[in-house]
Amino acid sequence: MTEKTFPLNHEQLEAAARRFGTPFYIYDERAIRENMRRFTKAFGIFPSFKEYFAVKACPNPYILKILASEGAGADCSSLPELILAEKAGMSGENVMFTSNETPEKEYIYANLKGNVINLDDISHIAYLEKALGALPELLCFRYNPGPLKEGNALIGKPEEAKYGLTREQIFEAYRVCKNKGVKRFGLHTMVASNELNPDYFVETAELLFTLAAELKRKEGVRIEFVDLGGGIGIPYRPGQKAVDYEYVAQRIRAAYDEIIVPAGLDPLAVAWECGRPITGPYGWLVTRALHEKHIYRDYVGVDASMADLMRPGMYGAYHEVTVSGKENAARDRVYDVVGSLCENCDKFAVQRELPEIVPGDLLIIHDAGAHGRAMGFNYNAKLRCGELLLRTDGSIVQIRRNETVDDYFATLDFAGLGAFTV
Ligand SMILES: *Cc1c(COP(=O)(O)O)cnc(C)c1O
Repeated sequence: MTEKTFPLNHEQLEAAARRFGTPFYIYDERAIRENMRRFTKAFGIFPSFKEYFAVKACPNPYILKILASEGAGADCSSLPELILAEKAGMSGENVMFTSNETPEKEYIYANLKGNVINLDDISHIAYLEKALGALPELLCFRYNPGPLKEGNALIGKPEEAKYGLTREQIFEAYRVCKNKGVKRFGLHTMVASNELNPDYFVETAELLFTLAAELKRKEGVRIEFVDLGGGIGIPYRPGQKAVDYEYVAQRIRAAYDEIIVPAGLDPLAVAWECGRPITGPYGWLVTRALHEKHIYRDYVGVDASMADLMRPGMYGAYHEVTVSGKENAARDRVYDVVGSLCENCDKFAVQRELPEIVPGDLLIIHDAGAHGRAMGFNYNAKLRCGELLLRTDGSIVQIRRNETVDDYFATLDFAGLGAFTV
């Protein structure tokens, strides 16, 4: 038995697999909408609230369009992500450009579109000014609290992280920008990834609220929004507990009343840049078992690989695996579930208790709706799989086709090969 759910029954999934071929990602529109509404409702207790969905988590314009219709903006970190958000209808200040090591032309594009630019370093003030001719009216800075804040496993200790400005630099940055005529300011941080401890986010908010109050007192700078970044985790493993949005929102609201209101900063907008908790639990990778192999261990070889879903191979990340139609069968076998890459880390599950699996079975890899297809790659000339969307009316549409051999060869010049003498 598993606590994880999947929106299609065995017959429906078999039908989808026959129609579209395997492997594929499938996302549940209804569940994504309901989750986004719960998130927005919980944080609606602030005078103004915005979720900038981290595009990198699920860079598909159909998903972005759904989220935009639920009020989300986008958090982007590259020119293609900016364009993707725009195509999905997210524009102007609904787009946060939280990038690092950013080339000039990307700042120029973001500025042209009226997106919010979030600078990652003090030296980027001069770089931006030179690129644009003048600084924009609105600027945000990414704060790195260093030893003031404990890190978490995925992102590491803040003082070892490449991101953001130090505490000293933050004061100088806002002072310089104010003197250069910047009128509106945001303050941002992101210090964790896949964190399940709700109190961690309350502490992060307290840290930013306190800093916003100090910036007003010391530099006369009025911060208009605080962006708490992403980092809200999801319960990948059985028994883990999801972050309670309402608890986090209410505790952050208490910190707001304690710090922001007396500092004269009310109304202050509160923002998130979450990706993982928004779509992660509502996307699945579906793959068919091709082979079984019994050597020193028992293996199930599937038609997806680490090129489709990198997290287990890269981080040793846990993803629940279920077998369609065998949800209630006893988990009395132990398998490594593996892909076809010539890398031994290409394993979706290691020494996992599962029901007996035979070639042809459909395996469902759970919690793959964020940082899943997005992190795919083409090593070993593996062609990445497509994406399906289960609509609220029960229909299934393809929102990204599978890659083809031509896609893989698209950057190569075979026409010129004949004239290339060796
Ligand atoms: C990755 C990232 C996010 C989103 O993180 P999730 O863990 O998907 O919520 C948000 N902001 C920044 C700057 C990021 O790098």
